[in-house]
Amino acid sequence: MRATVMYGAGDVRIENVPDARIIEPTDAVVTVTRACICGSDLWPYQKMEPTDTGRVMGHEAIGVVEAVGGEVRKIRRGDVVIMPFAFSDGTCVFCHDGLQTSCVHGGFFGTTEVAGAQAEAVRIPLADGTLFPVQVDKDDALMPSLLTLSDVMGTGHHAAVRAEVGPGKTVAVVGDGAVGLCGVIAARRLGAQQIIILGRHADRIALAREFGATDVVSGRGDEAVERVRALTGGLGAHSVLECVGLDAAMTTAISVARPGGAVGRVGVPQNEMMPASQPAFYNNLSVSGGPAPARAYIEELLPDVLDGSIQPGRVFDRVIGLDDVPDGYRAMNQRESIKIMVKP
Ligand SMILES: [Zn+2]
Repeated sequence: MRATVMYGAGDVRIENVPDARIIEPTDAVVTVTRACICGSDLWPYQKMEPTDTGRVMGHEAIGVVEAVGGEVRKIRRGDVVIMPFAFSDGTCVFCHDGLQTSCVHGGFFGTTEVAGAQAEAVRIPLADGTLFPVQVDKDDALMPSLLTLSDVMGTGHHAAVRAEVGPGKTVAVVGDGAVGLCGVIAARRLGAQQIIILGRHADRIALAREFGATDVVSGRGDEAVERVRALTGGLGAHSVLECVGLDAAMTTAISVARPGGAVGRVGVPQNEMMPASQPAFYNNLSVSGGPAPARAYIEELLPDVLDGSIQPGRVFDRVIGLDDVPDGYRAMNQRESIKIMVKP
């Protein structure tokens, strides 16, 4: 089968690899009908050390179950399924707590250990716990929005949950990438009164406004902090969603939070150390977040996708085939595209 293999920074190839197949009796094999390129795929695209073996990329997908192992009970051949970016058994203490990204038997797709989904097919470990069947046709018009439930919408929602967004609150969203945009959707959905997006790309800002952003701050650093303060009566925002992962973004997130407020961080941190520790301390901020338990959030978000009350699929501004995936990485890395859908 054909798959996307990354060999190092800037080196993405479409290659023939061994077919995805059942290895453990709890596995399933899914034919990928939709996948996408994630903002977090751009970190290895920029930094990965060259390797000879490569890594099959992709951790967001929807597809059709082709085969199941002998111990799979809930998932059946022919099911249309959402694949969250982490696999999980669905039975351990953390899965019961709704934190499937910490599953004691779990892990992540698109790593050196488990092949990813920017491919014609993907092996799903722990299929019963991992996959979420949906009762729609594989070419349903809602597919782009359903696909976001495998990561980006769940991640934006997680940032909002960890930032303690609620009715009447003031929210700042740091980052206008696909996750930040989904964070705007999530903040509005949870009842925020004011939603300030910090970002600088005209196309993304326009979409953020349609998703519910009430204010836009396009400056950076101290200038952005001053603007957010001015927009919040000098107090700062109750809830801040950090959707980038760079130190500068985290510093801004902490600096625009109101004393006693909360920062929900979902941008993959690019440094060991967390910046702005002292202002976070002196302002009594809650700083929380991490990889979103997307599997847990599908249940909550799916009805709103199905009835059209949220349309996170609008973050996709380009659809490509597998052959164009290397150019898709380039386009997202150069900010030509917000988020790219792949139809293998
Ligand atoms: Zn588990």
